[in-house]
Amino acid sequence: MIAVYPGSFDPITFGHLDVIERGCRLFDQVVVVVLQNPNKSPLFTVERRLEQITLSTRHLSNVEVDSYGGLTVTYARMRNAGVLLRGLRVLSDFEKELQMAHTNKTLSDEIETVFLATSNEYSFLSSSLVKEIAKFGGPVDHLVPQPVALDIRQCYAKTPLPPTPTPAMGMLPMSELPNLPLEKQPE
Ligand code: ADP
Repeated sequence: MIAVYPGSFDPITFGHLDVIERGCRLFDQVVVVVLQNPNKSPLFTVERRLEQITLSTRHLSNVEVDSYGGLTVTYARMRNAGVLLRGLRVLSDFEKELQMAHTNKTLSDEIETVFLATSNEYSFLSSSLVKEIAKFGGPVDHLVPQPVALDIRQCYAKTPLPPTPTPAMGMLPMSELPNLPLEKQPE
């Protein structure tokens, strides 16, 4: 049985990788497909994301990496896949994922969505969290595969954050306050 694991993977995290590894034990083949979503403005190009996923899944023999710009079910049908693989972390994921699974079922009755519950250690982990940390110069090596950590560092090194605005006057030490007229003190 072939399973398609669709997503943005912007970038792939250890949470995604955990779902892929477990999927590989359940299915003959897992096709990780980067969906091109015109409504999102990703940090990495589709090509870069494909490279990142390929490098991160080198140790798995039954993984294939691809991209697609249409409906997931159309892609799954094209690949003769019987399963769409998705991950579940928190309750808010469940609402969105269930709606998507039901919608996909109306589009293609023969394709089932299979959810894997996140492993405990990755239940907090998302691509946006990784980007948020990296943007402020924090370490992400424990959250993403090594090639991705390198890419993110390079990406934010090229586009440094705008300079921090000067602190509001209320935060300046007394010695640095400009000479403003003092309020009239009571006699
Ligand atoms: P999308 O934009 O389709 O949500 P993502 O790349 O954010 O793409 O996620 C792809 C799939 O991987 C989703 O089903 C998401 O719930 C799942 N996923 C993401 N992070 C984790 C994680 N830490 N643990 C388990 N599943 C995850």
